[in-house]
Amino acid sequence: MPVEVDKSRCPHNHVCPLIKICPVDAISQDQEGYPIINYDLCIECNKCTKYCPMGAMVIKD
Ligand code: SF4
Repeated sequence: MPVEVDKSRCPHNHVCPLIKICPVDAISQDQEGYPIINYDLCIECNKCTKYCPMGAMVIKD
């Protein structure tokens, strides 16, 4: 299932822990600290949605 970032939940004030857990290096961070998903790389494993402590990675409807 495709995922997206819920910016309202992300405090964007730290190194995003999801960068390390994504198995295909599809997550990076923008200059404001929000995670960015590279959809060309993402395999939709949904690991990041389970791992984010803020619940800021959500499955798209
Ligand atoms: S769904 Fe999986 S592959 Fe896609 S960004 Fe999240 S951890 Fe990476």
